[in-house]
Amino acid sequence: MDLEGFKQAALSSIDEIVRYYENITERRVVSSVKPGYLRELIPSKPPVKGEQWEDIQKDIETKIMPDWLAEMFNLPDTYRSSGTTLGGGVIHGTASEAILTIMVAARDKYLREVTEGVPADRLDDAVAEARNRLVAFGSATTHSTAVMKARANGLTPFYLTASLGTTDCCAYDDFESIADVLHEVAPPGKGEVWVHVDAAYAGAALVCPEYHHFTSQFHRFHSFNMNLHKWLLTDFDCSVTFVQKRKHYIDAFSMTPPYLRNNYSESGLVTDYRDWQIPLGRRFRSLKVWFVIRTFGVKGLQEHVRKGIRHGDLFTHLVQDRSGAGLNDKNTLTEKVYTTINEEGRIYLTSTILDGGIYAIRFCLSTPFVDEVHVRDAFKELVETTERMLHT
Ligand code: PLP
Repeated sequence: MDLEGFKQAALSSIDEIVRYYENITERRVVSSVKPGYLRELIPSKPPVKGEQWEDIQKDIETKIMPDWLAEMFNLPDTYRSSGTTLGGGVIHGTASEAILTIMVAARDKYLREVTEGVPADRLDDAVAEARNRLVAFGSATTHSTAVMKARANGLTPFYLTASLGTTDCCAYDDFESIADVLHEVAPPGKGEVWVHVDAAYAGAALVCPEYHHFTSQFHRFHSFNMNLHKWLLTDFDCSVTFVQKRKHYIDAFSMTPPYLRNNYSESGLVTDYRDWQIPLGRRFRSLKVWFVIRTFGVKGLQEHVRKGIRHGDLFTHLVQDRSGAGLNDKNTLTEKVYTTINEEGRIYLTSTILDGGIYAIRFCLSTPFVDEVHVRDAFKELVETTERMLHT
């Protein structure tokens, strides 16, 4: 959608909202549709090509809701609500919220399993005792010896976050090795380690088939999250999480006081997402995902990701062709360049300190309007500022 198309879509949406309020007294106060009606109205697959706004807008009144994302990201069937393990997806606001929720579910699962069979009068003590020993790992520590060392120190690893694209430099884990190591030291079943894949921003690349190989081991893990609002053209906030077994969310979070009871939930016809999260209330975030998928289509989203990767590759080549060999104290210079460029304010960069204490500038292209010329201009700015710094 170009800027003129956006303007027209925005104006016609405002008209629609105004019409809604003009006729509000003629509307029913509660919805007249039955839960579950949408499944039949929505195609089972996301559109390949983007659609015209007029067509999408027409559907607002009649249909709504995606369940298309698991397919777009090539997640195993078991991560879908229709899969054999009864998995499913939920949208949270942020990755931090998604991961915290997963960790609570993982902890609950672990404690439930290891205290199974403990008599009721000793259960609280057994849970408290086991809980005190729990330890969660990040992927940098996923080595069989780390796990063994933790155990030798009286700790019990119950959870691991593996990364598909770390925040600072987009590193990703060797998923097969992680799965193999855990298979050896904490085999699947009671007492297993819950593995969650955090793909907060790089996960967007999974819409392209050339990156689907990254998901080949996901059937050996428990859950996955990515932020649509980072690189997939969706407004903040929108972090999607998929689990292989929704039961673990529900076991950990479900509580049904009388005021939340209703026939639709109790008969299993609707999914109560309050059982998959910490708060009870939630925003209708899937609506904007539905608009994004229909507006761009899978093809449009793939083009957007591929364009970002092309620009990243271009920037890499520009840097490699001009390596600053022979410089001493590169960290001080890099930091100076970074600070100066941000102070001057023509482009905005972020920085990080990588393993080994290397100070690095992070270059990130985040809007759909960025083009090759902007990449080249940004690189020119970096080179010119570096040269100025070298000569002062
Ligand atoms: N995980 C990764 C890999 C990230 O890159 C980020 C943020 O950039 C986060 C988690 C945290 O994301 P959020 O701000 O959605 O909590």
